[in-house]
Amino acid sequence: MSTLYDVIVVGAGPGGSSTATFLAREDAKVLVLDKSAFPRDKVCGDGLTPQGIYWLDRLGCANEVLAYTKGCIKSADIVINGEKVLTGGYPPDTIYPDFAILLDRRRLDNILLEHAVDCGADFRDEVLVRDVEIGSDHATVTGERRGKTVEYRGRIVIGADGVSSAVSRAIGNVLKDGVMAVSLRAYFRDCRCDGARMQVYFDREYFPGYGWLFVDDEGFANIGLGCLKDRRFPLRHNLGASFRRFITEDLAEMLADATQCGPFSGGSSGFFRPRSISAARVMLIGDAANQADPLNGGGIHKAMESAWCAAEACRAALAEGDFSAASMRRYADLWSRQWEADWRAAELFMSIAKNPSLSDFGLFVLRHMGRLSMSDPKFREFAGGIFAGIVSQDAWLAVRALYHAFPKDRAAWLDLLRASGQEVGGEIAAGTFNLTAGYLASAARAAVSMAKDPIANMDWGLDLATKAAWLAHNRLAGRPLPEGERP
Ligand SMILES: Cc1cc2nc3c(=O)[nH]c(=O)nc-3n(C[C@H](O)[C@H](O)[C@H](O)COP(=O)(O)OP(=O)(O)OC[C@H]3O[C@@H](n4cnc5c(N)ncnc54)[C@H](O)[C@@H]3O)c2cc1C
Repeated sequence: MSTLYDVIVVGAGPGGSSTATFLAREDAKVLVLDKSAFPRDKVCGDGLTPQGIYWLDRLGCANEVLAYTKGCIKSADIVINGEKVLTGGYPPDTIYPDFAILLDRRRLDNILLEHAVDCGADFRDEVLVRDVEIGSDHATVTGERRGKTVEYRGRIVIGADGVSSAVSRAIGNVLKDGVMAVSLRAYFRDCRCDGARMQVYFDREYFPGYGWLFVDDEGFANIGLGCLKDRRFPLRHNLGASFRRFITEDLAEMLADATQCGPFSGGSSGFFRPRSISAARVMLIGDAANQADPLNGGGIHKAMESAWCAAEACRAALAEGDFSAASMRRYADLWSRQWEADWRAAELFMSIAKNPSLSDFGLFVLRHMGRLSMSDPKFREFAGGIFAGIVSQDAWLAVRALYHAFPKDRAAWLDLLRASGQEVGGEIAAGTFNLTAGYLASAARAAVSMAKDPIANMDWGLDLATKAAWLAHNRLAGRPLPEGERP
């Protein structure tokens, strides 16, 4: 009879290895399975957000990760339709550090996995998990290893196996059945830069979605482009062609002396809620539960957050010997209390943005928000914090929070009007006219475009209304834990 593990974790990405560390260091018997031999690559922007660094510290391996990184990123540039509209930093005085770092996933995920093994977890590589069967006294995980069928027994199974999760399928979810982001990524060396930085590009060609250039102190860059699509709004362009244009035109100056290292690689993420993220003896975390941030796509720290929630629920279930669906739901409840309102607020924003009829209007609004925040540090902090997911993301729906965040100083608004009138000498009157006419024209274009496909847009509108109603209800029912009290 094979070993009976307390917890079997399927997938050794950041979510799986973090869960294994949290549990193994408290003496739970944990087995981690992964289909790959480690170290392995994972298509990603390689950006570790302040929240990610915070969780690395909680796991006990922040110093090891920091020792490998080349450069500390304190601000990010936002470029819209070729115009740099904002350079924003991470908000200070939160529980998170005020910088981000870059580290390739080959190295990061290997450090996290080795740390879990050092804490006492067992690891089996090259196990492609195919199914999970739930029995009355344990769950059986079946897979394939080097051509042979293998079976492992555990009291609890954590599905941390990413966007194509076999564990999610085993508990009845339908994969890739909602909003997905599809992306391409490539590495370049000898990129022109003045130190490590992050640049995010929005452009009408590939909005909703964005291009990124994340570069370290030595000019080594991770460059990518990702776009949203779903059943209603499929991709309108060829992603490969847009990515090539992004590299050769938008980044021409920065890549003038650069050399591409390796081919373009493709990746995807899901931004819809699966039917369920827990079942008897099973929990889904990270990308297996589509928990990446819908506003910016960051998912490393989101996988670590849910790993923490899952480990808490495992601890309670193992102590009580209760592995029922109700016991596993403690994980879903804990995650919901901490992060669901933020996730849903970000999802609502993404749902508005994903309608191609609103692309021009959305970029117009973003451009002016960017310009406004250049003249007002407090608003810049708020907008940057929301985009980075450091300021609670449902604050953008809270009238009081918005009122406090928007500039009260007349000078910031006058600067915005002057910037909008730049083409005609920077006059305030001309700027006011440009701004008003621009809004009206892009709103009219959006309305005309939506009228051309009334059924799809009505369907989209109903979906939006349902999401907004959930958030409104949640706000009335009471907020989750406030900032600073997060785990
Ligand atoms: C193009 C792109 C860019 C991104 N950029 C960033 C970024 O810059 N910063 C950020 O924070 N997030 C980024 N993300 C999101 C981030 O990559 C994910 O959210 C994060 O990796 C999720 O971690 P995870 O542990 O849940 O899953 P993963 O990291 O996907 O790990 C899943 C693991 O499960 C294994 N596995 C899969 N199926 C099986 C199976 N059947 N049997 C056994 N093992 C299996 C895989 O080999 C893998 O090791 C990006 C995503 C994409 C697609």
